[in-house]
Amino acid sequence: MRRSYVGSGNPNFGKKHSTKTKELIREKAVGRKASLATKIKMSKSHKGKIVWNTGRQTPKEVREKIRASWAKIAYIRIGERNPNWNGGTTTLRSRVWHSIKYKNWRNSIFQRDNYTCVLCQAKSQKGMAIRLEADHYPKPFASFIREATNGEKDNIFEKVMIFEPLWLSSGRTLCVDCHNKTKRSLTRP
Ligand SMILES: [Zn+2]
Repeated sequence: MRRSYVGSGNPNFGKKHSTKTKELIREKAVGRKASLATKIKMSKSHKGKIVWNTGRQTPKEVREKIRASWAKIAYIRIGERNPNWNGGTTTLRSRVWHSIKYKNWRNSIFQRDNYTCVLCQAKSQKGMAIRLEADHYPKPFASFIREATNGEKDNIFEKVMIFEPLWLSSGRTLCVDCHNKTKRSLTRP
């Protein structure tokens, strides 16, 4: 940032965004993530540069303001207001998928299907590894979660883990490509 733009030198100094503008900025920022390449570029271009505020003491009241606005951001990021919020199932899914019980279920599907994608017959061979996933089929995983938790929000992981219909359910082996295709299509092939 050019030094003349700092503080009262900045044309926007003292001005505040309207709520509408803030919403627009927030909408734009939602889901935006710097790609790895961009991050590397940013880090390279910043390397060795002296930051404009080095050696300057930020006044106490400004520090307080900064701290307060970070606290607000941290609050907003919690739960439903988080741009990545999807109903709270991501953590649940990943906890279930990391459990021994799930790994056993998945392995039994892989074994039955002979470690082969049931849609395109892809299979790992010497020199070529195919990543396989177990798809809950014909009834999707999300339906079991809904039934197991019954719309309640507490102890959902425990409820899913003891929901026997899920663990007795059938599935099929898919390669990652086929699995992604089934996720995109409305009718599950
Ligand atoms: Zn496949």
